[in-house]
Amino acid sequence: MDETKEETLTLAYRVKLDVTRIKSDMLGMLCDFFQREHHAQLDFLDSIVAQEGRLVLKGKSQAGEGEFKQRVRYRAANDYKRARKAAKALKKQLKLPYLHAELCDAAEVQEPRKAISFDLWVHIEGLSRDCQLYLPARKHRALNRALDYPSASLCKSAQVMRRKGKWYAIVYVRCALPEPCEVKEWYGNDVGVRASVTRSDGYQGPDLHPILKAQKKRTAERQRQGMPHDFGRQTPQRQALAREARLLVSVALATGRGIALEDPKRLPRYKQWAARYFAKRVALLASLVGVQVTLIAPPYTSITCSKCGSVETFRYRSCFRCHRCGYTANADFNASCNIRARACHYGGSHKSPKSLLPGGGEVIGDSVLCTYLEGGWREGDGS
Ligand SMILES: [Zn+2]
Repeated sequence: MDETKEETLTLAYRVKLDVTRIKSDMLGMLCDFFQREHHAQLDFLDSIVAQEGRLVLKGKSQAGEGEFKQRVRYRAANDYKRARKAAKALKKQLKLPYLHAELCDAAEVQEPRKAISFDLWVHIEGLSRDCQLYLPARKHRALNRALDYPSASLCKSAQVMRRKGKWYAIVYVRCALPEPCEVKEWYGNDVGVRASVTRSDGYQGPDLHPILKAQKKRTAERQRQGMPHDFGRQTPQRQALAREARLLVSVALATGRGIALEDPKRLPRYKQWAARYFAKRVALLASLVGVQVTLIAPPYTSITCSKCGSVETFRYRSCFRCHRCGYTANADFNASCNIRARACHYGGSHKSPKSLLPGGGEVIGDSVLCTYLEGGWREGDGS
């Protein structure tokens, strides 16, 4: 990573647009046009590659043809490059990434105006000067929270899209990542399913079991009624974990400690989903406020005695007992103490938590690009 350049992180948020019937129809037409142009552009790029054997951007310059067409062309080129790279990496036939969503890339965020009830305006210039759309929206709590981070700013570019008959804008917040300060003390954290999170100072998060049970019922009911599966949704169990992550980072920030977590990639499969989600949330939030996070190797954390270090122990559900020294405690609490001890021992240099950031923390230009939609993670889409 380049030391001189400041690292930034781009977060994406979805805000609901308040559109009239006429504006909705106009947007529908624009998106339709965007999709067709994008389609044509992809075919054009593919024909160039078929002729030349590599991607050369040629053809008539579209400068002066308006913002809209340039954005289509830019997006198509990016999508094509990405699809080609992915096909090469996976050794598969290249499938052209045609746009299926109703989406328009050529929007920009405007300065707030005098209108009382709206504090965010999105502007789209259509095909000509006469087609100017101004769409009002309201900032929500998650967006305001992101804008409160030090040196966060709202990006000018935005996307507009329709989902289930409603119009949304995707707006981006760019935050500079502060350098994490050196810490001596650590909080060890154990993610379990019984108690969602256990911190090494004795705090225990809520029990996830009732939440999971209720969600199972809800999913079954959805299936019975023939409703589509809600993949990628912000489910109640994720919400609970996200809340715990927020709490943990704010506590660590207030007390000036670092956060030690088990490396989710090295946990057994069935434990991974919760641990991975929690670790990702913590890594992101901590990197935004400059709290240090370290990942430690998980083996033996749950069966080692945190008082004497013996592994000749007995564990049944949440009960833990050491055969050598007789120490008895909650099993998750014992594990979190072990995690803390390991972090103190290694001094937090075991592994960088950057790998938990979206896209594997791959630095694109000078920014780690990511998309944050309703708390779910998706690969950044390059805009
Ligand atoms: Zn012991």
